[in-house]
Amino acid sequence: MNNPINVPDIFGSDVFTEATMKQRLAPAIYEAWKHCIDSGTHLTLDVANEIAEAMKLWAIEKGATHYTHWFQPMTGITAEKHDSFITPIGDGKVIMEFSGKELVRGEPDASSFPSGGLRATFEARGYTAWDPTSFAFVKDGSLYIPTCFFSYNGEALDKKTPLLRSLEEVSREAMRIIRLFGDTDAKRVVACVGAEQEYFILPKALYAQREDLRLTGRTLFGARPPKGQELDDHYFGTIRTRISNFMKDLDEQLWRLGVLSKTKHNEVAPCQHEMAPIYSGASSACDANQLVMEIMKKCAAKHDLVCLLHEKPFEGINGSGKHNNWSLATDTGKNLFSPGKTPRQNAQFLLFLAAFVQGVDEYQDFLRCTVASAGNDHRLGANEAPPAIVSIFLGDELNAVVRSIIDGTNYTDPEKSVMRVGVDVMPTIPKDTTDRNRTSPLAFTGNKFEFRMLGSSQSIAGPNIALNTIMAEELGRFADALEQADDFDATLHNLVCKAFTEHQRIIFDGNGYSEEWKQEAARRGLSNFASTPECLPSYISPKNIDLVTRHGIFTEAEFRARYAIHMEAYNKIVGIEAKTTLDMAMRQILPAALHYTRVLSEGLASKKALGISTKAESALVTRLSEKTDSLFDGCEKLKSHMTAVPSELESAARYYHETILPDMDAIRSDADSLEEMTDKAYWPFPTYADLLYY
Ligand code: ADP
Ligand code: MG
Repeated sequence: MNNPINVPDIFGSDVFTEATMKQRLAPAIYEAWKHCIDSGTHLTLDVANEIAEAMKLWAIEKGATHYTHWFQPMTGITAEKHDSFITPIGDGKVIMEFSGKELVRGEPDASSFPSGGLRATFEARGYTAWDPTSFAFVKDGSLYIPTCFFSYNGEALDKKTPLLRSLEEVSREAMRIIRLFGDTDAKRVVACVGAEQEYFILPKALYAQREDLRLTGRTLFGARPPKGQELDDHYFGTIRTRISNFMKDLDEQLWRLGVLSKTKHNEVAPCQHEMAPIYSGASSACDANQLVMEIMKKCAAKHDLVCLLHEKPFEGINGSGKHNNWSLATDTGKNLFSPGKTPRQNAQFLLFLAAFVQGVDEYQDFLRCTVASAGNDHRLGANEAPPAIVSIFLGDELNAVVRSIIDGTNYTDPEKSVMRVGVDVMPTIPKDTTDRNRTSPLAFTGNKFEFRMLGSSQSIAGPNIALNTIMAEELGRFADALEQADDFDATLHNLVCKAFTEHQRIIFDGNGYSEEWKQEAARRGLSNFASTPECLPSYISPKNIDLVTRHGIFTEAEFRARYAIHMEAYNKIVGIEAKTTLDMAMRQILPAALHYTRVLSEGLASKKALGISTKAESALVTRLSEKTDSLFDGCEKLKSHMTAVPSELESAARYYHETILPDMDAIRSDADSLEEMTDKAYWPFPTYADLLYY
């Protein structure tokens, strides 16, 4: 028996939580902090000093010697620089100090973070500011202070700042609506998010032998193993001991950090797993997901394993995504996407649903762009992931309700007798609307939407910023109309009816993987961006710029900077993959195949001299030579193409997509054929069968 862990005791024990604050701060200081959170104002220096002192004492008790401003730059991962608490007091002695100024503001030398041109090199400074809505925590001997990251001119250089802005916006607009429906209790509306995280785990020793995995996070070579995922025997299968030990350790670390780790299981592909937390407010869900990704990697290393977060580590089996479950709720706990019991509540539900449908249709390209990346390109549109076309799945019953509103007919369900239509303008919504359609990119699952296009390695900030902003826009428009209305019910009915009628093309309940859907979607005029270079230019369309600037989520410069950073990242990633392909093909694969060919040829010669049949050797030498020649030609071609990459960002991205990736595919195809013919003893790295069935 292992030592049992007391989960309620350890949960959040490494977090400077509200309860800890209450316990450790003078009542006046605690109240001052509370007031800042509620009113969104700044902490005074006195208060900050007191909080800093309490935090320091607490952190030192937890073993911390350093503090760090933890932020989420536009790389999509987190950044940290550690300073120790030491301050010299003469005589070669030090004391441990931490001031309010050091708590609330930092100035990391940030010249090497992507800024998309926002920060001129002569003003390379970046600033971090504590986000007092996120709690500090202790990890690996440091006090972590969650911060926002911005430039000298105040432009957001991170993913957290716009997320917080979008949360404010959607709350403000949603409050207008619920006030109109008579809710006088709620003070805020919060976006709730639960992010299910998929990942692969491999033994470190095997991973270490693959340059492609180490440099790019995915395999650039590898013939299909005799067994793939066709038996579906991994999904929900028994978790092997080595992995369950890792998962146990992971849970414990996450719980200590206050992450609500809830569910763990094996996924469809061999070596693939999933972890899902209980949902929370979007900002803390975003922090938590960053911690989840980071701790998965560190914890795996501790167990001599490696965690792969890449969207498509292996060809031919499922890739990894991240399901972003999203809903809106009042601070009093009412879910605004929950169909209600009374006609009045249902009318409000339908209004939120209509706003969502209208917003997702109008800004489908914006949403699609937030998940565009080199890694996710291998996934979206492939067989297991949602297609690259954005659509909404509502389920049979809700669909029938929407249909009846569009057609102006009574909603009837033959199974469940006549539904009440026309009472207080809106039909009664059936309770059980949770049909599942795994092929939909955006599915309504009872009282939330599950957005499934996000890649496993991506920050959840992007799509949540988009969802919040889109909702803020549509709810704001609805509120404008309703606040002016003479006849509230009639206006409400018209808004809902108009939204469903004009935007019904975005609703689709069929098989999202099918070829027919692609054609049907094209007829409906939905956009279908199959790759990042095709997709990203629409990010900065005038419509999207207008949306994000009007709501104060991004300035135009901040928005364009993100576009540039994502484009550049795409180019760099494919560039690195191309160079790794060349390196492995020329220095590992070709030598191995040629070596084996030479050995075969020598054997062939000696057998011939003895007059013995050389059928196998002859055939193999011929086939190997064909493939090695072709592989060599492919490498020469890729090498020369790599010298001709255009310098302009968009042209480069298109070039990488249209020229470089196909060159890499051709090389891989030859290399994989060679793998199938070459004596395993000569093969320079572990194969798919070695990696996936260790
Ligand atoms: P699955 O999609 O795997 O069937 P669940 O339906 O249990 O899983 O939920 C998946 C995720 O959705 C979990 O993280 C859960 O906490 C989260 N979730 C549940 N309700 C809501 C909600 N109202 N808003 C946001 N997320 C939610
Ligand atoms: Mg799910």
